[in-house]
Amino acid sequence: MGKTARSMMFGERDVDALLETHAGRIAALTDALHLARAKSEHSSPVGAGTPYDSIWALRFVLSHDDDAEALSAATRTLRWREENAEMLAAAARGETLERFAPMERLIAADYHGKTLDGAPVYIVRAGLSNTMAVMAANKEDDVVEFMMYRKEMGAVMCDERTRRTRKLTKLLTVNDLNFVSVLHGTDKKFQKVLSRASKLSEDYYPQLLDRAVLINVPYVFSAIWGVFKNMLSAKTRAKVAICPVSDTRKGDVRKCPFAKLLDLSTIPSFLAGECRCKGGCVRGVANDQKTLIGAMTDDGLIAHNVPARGKIDVFAEVDATDAVAWRLLVEKGGVEVTATLRPAGWRKGDDVSKCTTLIRKFKHRDGDGTKEDVIVSPGKGTIAFTFSNAHSTWNSKDIKYSVDVVGGESGAAKEGEKETETDPTDLTDLTDLTEDKRESPAADALGEDLRAMKLEATPARAQTEVPSR
Ligand SMILES: [Zn+2]
Repeated sequence: MGKTARSMMFGERDVDALLETHAGRIAALTDALHLARAKSEHSSPVGAGTPYDSIWALRFVLSHDDDAEALSAATRTLRWREENAEMLAAAARGETLERFAPMERLIAADYHGKTLDGAPVYIVRAGLSNTMAVMAANKEDDVVEFMMYRKEMGAVMCDERTRRTRKLTKLLTVNDLNFVSVLHGTDKKFQKVLSRASKLSEDYYPQLLDRAVLINVPYVFSAIWGVFKNMLSAKTRAKVAICPVSDTRKGDVRKCPFAKLLDLSTIPSFLAGECRCKGGCVRGVANDQKTLIGAMTDDGLIAHNVPARGKIDVFAEVDATDAVAWRLLVEKGGVEVTATLRPAGWRKGDDVSKCTTLIRKFKHRDGDGTKEDVIVSPGKGTIAFTFSNAHSTWNSKDIKYSVDVVGGESGAAKEGEKETETDPTDLTDLTDLTEDKRESPAADALGEDLRAMKLEATPARAQTEVPSR
């Protein structure tokens, strides 16, 4: 390990000290890049007063002990930046590109919050990101480009902060592996994208990644990691930190050594932080969501299969008086619908009498067409819509739905979310919870399902209750 690598590992981040230490190599790299431009190896102006000045060159010098390697990587980077100027400019302005829209909806990843040092944090909710749908609907090159677009956004933030604070700022990425299935690990097409993006990032964004933290590592992780680690370059792999916390939704994040680096007041609730952005912290995916983001159909509805004896919960974070528009279509057969407002801070296992029933259970059938309605939230919290197929022992149901917060003070349209639960132990747990509350009008939506299973003799009547304001 060279002196450079060692000093970086021990946290030398003073830019002015680094510039002084490496002044000779930075000057040599800049001169060589001038020469390379004269030879048409790239066409970007470099040096003081350009975006490719000594602070930019410093990252290449720090990442490559060999001058020729630093020059080669920097030259390739400039060429790549020239070829991708439109995408990079959009990223710098924080604008999205039309061609990324179909991916952005399916990939639950974004910058959110910061470390205690003020460095940006990139959060990936791997278990919710529907990479198979992404790969089915997009070209591999476009998905790789999208990954680089997101990387550029982080690079811009880190560069801005580096110049402002004179501290070399790098990204912390947190990959939340909650709800990751082994299926993800076998999504070969997306693996290839990750692998390509990781290699490109190493070339084009030296000294950008501080740590990649894997958190909420699932039980079957040993199987997944064997595949996952091969998608990462050796350099990236060396920066990966695996956090022992098994579930930050209920666990103590202080057990994770990297949590010490995070400013928890800015970190989403699913990572044991304090933030619950309206509509969800990361790309409008609700913080409580547990399953893959669905693929959206042409009519703006999300298609989903509700397994036999299972259900889907769709969540919408709301303030009091927010209007929530929802639609439901059942392809064949019927599902039972309920909606309940869980007050802010309410968790599964809390007193269900604190929840408010917004839609009493009714059955929506294929012959009923598309159900469309608007409910107004009587309070702040999370509205849980439940589309239940618990009554059906054998047949799964194909449904299409949408849940959007359309009104209220913010007026922002937010997407809901879904989760599928078929685990019978989960239902067993709820039995105790709901028995006591059988008479409560504010029974939890999950409890409604159970009751439906138990009281099958009593047919449910369709009625929608909209609370008065
Ligand atoms: Zn947030």
